[in-house]
Amino acid sequence: MTPLEQSPPPALDLAASPALSGAIHGFMGRAGGASAGRYATFNLARWVGDDPAAVAENWRRWRAAYPRLTVATVAQIHGAAVHRVGRDWNDRRPEGDGMVTAEPGIALGVFTADCAPILLADPAHRVIGALHAGWRGTLANIAGAGVRAMVELGARPASIRAAIGPAIGLCCFEVDADLAERFIREIDGAAACARPGRPGKAYLDLRALNRRLLERAGLDPQAIDEVGPCTRCARDRYFSRRAAAGAATGLQLSFLALHE
Ligand SMILES: [Zn+2]
Repeated sequence: MTPLEQSPPPALDLAASPALSGAIHGFMGRAGGASAGRYATFNLARWVGDDPAAVAENWRRWRAAYPRLTVATVAQIHGAAVHRVGRDWNDRRPEGDGMVTAEPGIALGVFTADCAPILLADPAHRVIGALHAGWRGTLANIAGAGVRAMVELGARPASIRAAIGPAIGLCCFEVDADLAERFIREIDGAAACARPGRPGKAYLDLRALNRRLLERAGLDPQAIDEVGPCTRCARDRYFSRRAAAGAATGLQLSFLALHE
C-alpha cells in the first residue's frame, strides 16, 4: 500500500455518549471541515454568513460519513416547540427547537454554539429526540416538551436515556442576577445550578438546569449523561457565541438516528 492508501479518510470530530450507545449519534466539534476564518472549520449552518461552497463541502463530508442517513433540522427560535418527524419530512425546516421520531434512518440535528444540545433515546420503544436549549428554551422547558413528544410516540420516561452535549459552562455563563432569580423561582432545584458573580451578575449551569428538567419529566438521574467541555473554554474545539464576542460564528451539529 502507498502511504496515501493507508491514511484514513478525514475523520469527523465526534463526541459520543455511552447513554446513547444504541443510536447513531454524535456531538460534532469544529475540526475537519472546509470553512475558514470565524467559521473554521466544520460549520454546517447555511444561514450564518459562511461561504456556501464551504458549507456544501462540509455537508458532502458529513454525508460521506453517513451515506444512509437523511437529516432533519428546524429553524431554531429559542422556544419549546417540538416537531414529529416522519418519512414525509423532506426538506421542511419549520420554526421550533426540538424534533422527535420513531423512524429509523432519519438523523435529527440541532445546531449550537454555547446553547445545550440534548439528545434523547428510548431504545426499548425505539423513539428518539433532539433538542436545542439555550436559556430561553430552558426556561420554557424544552426538555419537558421533548420528553412529552417522545411519550406521544410510545416512549416511557423511565426508559429514556439522555446526553447533554458541549455547552457553555458554569465557569463562563454569566447572566444578570435578575435572570438567575427567575430560574430559581421557576425551576425546582435551580438554586443549586447558580452561583453569585460580580455585583448584579450571576453564573448559571445550563446543563445542570436541563438535567433537573429531564429528571422532573421522569428520567432516571443515572440515565442522563453530560458530554464534552464548556464551549467557551474549549473555543478551539467548539464554536462559541460568547467567545466570538458578538461577531458571527459557525454552529456545530449534534445529531442522532435510530438504526435501521
Ligand atoms: Zn468555561
